[in-house]
Amino acid sequence: MTIYTGPVFDMARAQFQVIADYLEIAQDERDRLLYPKRAVAVSCPIHRDDGTTAVFQGYRVQHHLTLGPTKGGTRFAPSVDIGEVAALAVWMSWKCALTGLPYGGAKGGITVDPHALSRHELENLSRRYMQEMIPFVGPHTDVMAPDMGTNEQVMAWFMDTYSMYQGRTVTEIVTGKPVSNGGTEGRREATGRGVGFLTERACERIGLETAGATAIVQGFGNVGSVAAQSLAERGMKIVGVSDHTACYYDPRGLDIAALTRHAATHGALRGFANEIAFDPRELLMQPCDVLVPAATERVIDAAVAAKLRCRILAEGANGPTTPDADLVLDQRRGEVFVIPDILCNAGGVVVSYFEWVQDLQQFFWDEAEVMSKLYHVLQKAFAQVMARAERDGVSHRTAAMAIGVQKVQDAKQTRGLFP
Ligand code: GLU
Repeated sequence: MTIYTGPVFDMARAQFQVIADYLEIAQDERDRLLYPKRAVAVSCPIHRDDGTTAVFQGYRVQHHLTLGPTKGGTRFAPSVDIGEVAALAVWMSWKCALTGLPYGGAKGGITVDPHALSRHELENLSRRYMQEMIPFVGPHTDVMAPDMGTNEQVMAWFMDTYSMYQGRTVTEIVTGKPVSNGGTEGRREATGRGVGFLTERACERIGLETAGATAIVQGFGNVGSVAAQSLAERGMKIVGVSDHTACYYDPRGLDIAALTRHAATHGALRGFANEIAFDPRELLMQPCDVLVPAATERVIDAAVAAKLRCRILAEGANGPTTPDADLVLDQRRGEVFVIPDILCNAGGVVVSYFEWVQDLQQFFWDEAEVMSKLYHVLQKAFAQVMARAERDGVSHRTAAMAIGVQKVQDAKQTRGLFP
């Protein structure tokens, strides 16, 4: 039992044990690799618009400091707790190592429903959170980014708050900023486009024509909406989409451009077209070529996994598939091709890395350069995962995580244990 104990961290730990067994990591080395180096909890008081004071709990977990600064998003959601944030930080570590970024993983969050705050309250909370974090973050210590419930605007407030305390503009303190404030071209679209790119690679592997293939996307935030667009651009027919407010299914295909406009105007999918409303859990189990869970953790449990009718499971979300579901998917390896989360959604942090590099150098690249470098990194990671899975006869998740864990382990071993 630790402060992290809970369903999400327990899942990250269970996954890690599978990898540690496969890599034959000594028992006394395991805790050093798994448990976060640092965890910070802060209370963030703000003035509400009605004149009252409200206090929100915020967290930041920095998983390991072995390879460089830590890196990861900040989540504003009612579900946020220290265990969830820690699990997400651990997954960031394996993701960064798999894609060769010089970072350890981190994650942060505030337990809040951001939709229940006014814009002014959201700004107050974002600024107060960053202010509370100043002693613990820095461009060479820990670099934040967006995640569920946060966006470019929140990153701009983080950057401004940090900069005001430093007395100079420090763009490299966060990534995922607006391009007008030191952000990079392509960051907003990076995760979703990465999902599209890797899905195409998976289609090639299983001999599936992208044009005319069908896809279902769960989650219509920054990742899901861009992933849907990216798949549609490859000729796929998106037959189902959902978010926390609505779920639509139409085997004839949905108008993704219209759905994207609707979500941009209304903040969510609700109210788009009631005649095609559908049950959100059932949506995951409808027949399709590609299923993209791009919402939250643990939506594919063993029962859902047994009933999946997709050929490719492209994990846009972090941790959408439970370890129990993995056992089922292991049995169904020939039927369902899994693109594991730490590979599938890595486009976001890869372009975050590019943003950080550009900010440090004050030398900016155009979108074509960003995208071609991104696809190069993803292509390489994809090839490594495929080769490892084939060599050892393990699942794609085991292969991907093993590459990440092994890199961190090797770096720790070479550096040694201080003192
Ligand atoms: N929140 C994103 C993720 O889970 C991006 C992190 C980043 O860009 O640092 O990968």
